[in-house]
Amino acid sequence: MGTDRIFEELGDTISRTAKAISEKADGFLEIQKMNSKVNAQKRQIGKSLEKLGALVYQRYVDGEQMDLELSGICDEVTQHKMAKAEYEEELARLQGKKVCPACGKTLHKDAAYCSYCGAPCEKEADEEAEETEEVFEEVSAPEEEVQDMYAESKEESETEE
Ligand SMILES: [Zn+2]
Repeated sequence: MGTDRIFEELGDTISRTAKAISEKADGFLEIQKMNSKVNAQKRQIGKSLEKLGALVYQRYVDGEQMDLELSGICDEVTQHKMAKAEYEEELARLQGKKVCPACGKTLHKDAAYCSYCGAPCEKEADEEAEETEEVFEEVSAPEEEVQDMYAESKEESETEE
């Protein structure tokens, strides 16, 4: 085998390898593209389901009759909303601020009125920070409020019929 032939064969091998690599790269790129298409659709599905859930929850809050499966999940949402509000209030307190009872925006703890919605705000941040026992009592209070809310919405839907 002459030197020329060796280089010729080497050249063939190199070009075959290069072709295989570029085919692999093309395949990889195609997989990546398809993957991002799948993920984009997943996000859209998530968004639509979220919208659907928000709509169902709003109707539940407005007193619409629902089966137990749906109303059970709506209960969960209410519980989490109340816990979130409580933690936000606690967070505001830790930061020397308070939360507007009407719109939920964070305000200076001494603010008498909300600068966002104009609602009057009680000047209570200082007392609560001092008395830890009161804070614990407050934590257990919301459950009753939830039950009251449901009782009200049930009454409303009953009178509508
Ligand atoms: Zn407000």
